[in-house]
Amino acid sequence: MNLSQNLEVQTVLGPIPIEKLGRTLMHEHLAVGYSGWESHTNRLRNSRTDMRSICVDRIGELQDLGYQTLLDPCPADLGRDVELMVEVAEATGFNIICATGLYREEGGGAFYWTHKAQYEDIEGVMEEMFVSELTEGIGTTGVRPGIIKCGTGHGSMSEYEGKVFAAVARASVVTGAPVTTHTDDGTVGDLQQQVLTRGNVPSNRIIIGHSCGTTDTDYHMTIASGGSYLGFDRFGIAALMSDEDRADSLMRLITQGAGDRIVVSHDSVWCWKGEPFPTYAMDRLSEVMEPTRFDREIIPMLKDRGATEEQIEMLVVDNPRRFFSGESLKSLNPTS
Ligand SMILES: [Zn+2]
Repeated sequence: MNLSQNLEVQTVLGPIPIEKLGRTLMHEHLAVGYSGWESHTNRLRNSRTDMRSICVDRIGELQDLGYQTLLDPCPADLGRDVELMVEVAEATGFNIICATGLYREEGGGAFYWTHKAQYEDIEGVMEEMFVSELTEGIGTTGVRPGIIKCGTGHGSMSEYEGKVFAAVARASVVTGAPVTTHTDDGTVGDLQQQVLTRGNVPSNRIIIGHSCGTTDTDYHMTIASGGSYLGFDRFGIAALMSDEDRADSLMRLITQGAGDRIVVSHDSVWCWKGEPFPTYAMDRLSEVMEPTRFDREIIPMLKDRGATEEQIEMLVVDNPRRFFSGESLKSLNPTS
């Protein structure tokens, strides 16, 4: 087990010193493909060249805002495309961190694994795969992930998801890699934290993702006082929550002393594999899924609500750095 503080973080182009992270978005996607995308053969949309240029343009916009790094936590079964990440990182000089891991039961590759589970212990097989990706690289690419991803559906952790979480905890303990999660509508993040920490993952090595799916401050403070990070990482996705509500919730957490454990992002998807939304909607998605929104719209919103420059800087620079370094978090009273 690696308990010492990390000095480096793994990017798709190799390890970099933690201090090179700079301004960091903790949950964006160059490309996503929901399970089954390959089957929609007349709607495969963008060519490799198109995808590359879309991503390079997006990164350019982020670089103009002073960003240096993003985490693309696409799990192995959601159209993860590490070759695209490598091409874009090489073309832009931007730091891109990718993930190993598996998605929640719905939407990812669960059928493959539950089929296999009829015959053998898939927890062990998953753990072996995660560890092999983290230590040797993904497939034949040699690219090593910097984090492990897992997720749950709305309101509960399914049996399958429980196996993924157990395998993720084991792989995290073996390799020292941190963990980031998917939650639906800000539910069961507290359970995710319990399952992972019972599996001996240090709480400060966990981000409970999509925590901005709820405005329940008690729920947020339970996770925060448990010593984990909260992802306010879906700014701009108005179908799930208004940004005003997200900003209000975030400010309540800052006021209660939990601002040092919130990371921000948009969960924007720049290229879709296949066409999971109707044709007419696909082109409009790029307007919604805008990774510059935090700087353009959300920072002014937070400042209106009393946030200081220093607190904003903490969200985009200090917290990602502290998370990846494994530096400890101060203890926090859930009722303060
Ligand atoms: Zn995502």
